[in-house]
Amino acid sequence: MVNDLNSFVIQPPKPAEPAVFIDDTTLRDGEQTAGVVFSNHEKIRIAKLLDEVGVHQIEVGIPAMGGDEKATIRQIADLGLDASILAWNRAVLDDLRHSLDCGVDAVAVSMSASDIHIEHKLRKSRQWVLDQVRQCVAFAKNKGLYVSVNAEDASRADLEFLLRFGQAAKDEGADRLRFCDTLGILDPFDTYNVISFLKHNGLTIEMHTHNDFGMATANALAGIKAGATYVNTTVNGLGERAGNAALEEVVMALKYLGKVDLGLQTSRFRELSEYVAAASARTIPAWKSIVGTNVFAHESGIHADGVIKNPLNYEAFAPEDVGLERQIVVGKHSGSRTIYRKFQEFGIELNKEDCEGILAMVRQTAVELKRALFDKELMYIYHDYLERLGDAVPVGMNGDAAGEQRGEGQAARSATPEAGRA
Ligand SMILES: [Zn+2]
Repeated sequence: MVNDLNSFVIQPPKPAEPAVFIDDTTLRDGEQTAGVVFSNHEKIRIAKLLDEVGVHQIEVGIPAMGGDEKATIRQIADLGLDASILAWNRAVLDDLRHSLDCGVDAVAVSMSASDIHIEHKLRKSRQWVLDQVRQCVAFAKNKGLYVSVNAEDASRADLEFLLRFGQAAKDEGADRLRFCDTLGILDPFDTYNVISFLKHNGLTIEMHTHNDFGMATANALAGIKAGATYVNTTVNGLGERAGNAALEEVVMALKYLGKVDLGLQTSRFRELSEYVAAASARTIPAWKSIVGTNVFAHESGIHADGVIKNPLNYEAFAPEDVGLERQIVVGKHSGSRTIYRKFQEFGIELNKEDCEGILAMVRQTAVELKRALFDKELMYIYHDYLERLGDAVPVGMNGDAAGEQRGEGQAARSATPEAGRA
């Protein structure tokens, strides 16, 4: 039976020379999120963590802002990290000079590509846009920098003009074109079509997708499927408005669904997410894809029993793969086998009748509290149950004191909001 189940394991391929490169922008687009500010110390710590996890390029911020922002970018560039360090710039020579001051090896040159932006934001012409791009790319390449040209609002740009925009950048030596779905308005099908078109015309593409319709990760993957080789991510999907494609989602989806293992240390994803969540004063929702505490929590009787028999029954990959732990949560939807196993962990052997009796009380309490139960609460229920039976000596045990000690010890270890609740 177990052998049969193993054929359902989604096997990631061996890491090879990455076919896709991660350019993480937690420190730039992530920090642009309304209400988010990282301290200088936190920016440096996040850059180091991203580097340790194996991100290929880190977008560190905007040197033209000057002050602390520029000083911190210089500090990060001086750390000697393995990752390439990329600074964000408007398509303005002065911005690029600030980036050069910081000693970064790569720059993003950002310019609007849609007519609505060109006419109503920049109040310029398409030709002016192309001229600015050409001038800035030529300047940056002349200084030996890696250059990404960011086509802002590319998803609303005229496709023929977007191609001219990308080709103008490429003619001047730009290394890639960042396709920005700035408003997050594409779906994966449209994304696939537009990226295929740009790829067939010889451009190297990076995906920059936003989550306004909940499709940032799906669109990033659609772009990669169409031939994009870079993807701009943020930890926890932090970013303007509804956020960007989440690093942990893109990497794990590529690994398990796309069969592309980028070789990142995914087992540190929860740790990285927790650090960025704290630094951005955001909580990680329990139901957050990949790194939420509920991703490997099982309560319903059928699921919990199935997972205990073999995790592959209800888990697509192992919790250790992202630095999480499996939890069997006891609550309204639990079954009697879960009750049996849970109390076995506490050193208490229940018979079938006890399991049913305790389960009824567990369900009633969970409904009253509107949540799953802590281990300690299960012990209270257990003692109430015994009292109801008028039985002072727990079933299958030598003495109540020993039971309490074992039970309470377990409860104390697990009675945290993370480990003990759904
Ligand atoms: Zn953005």
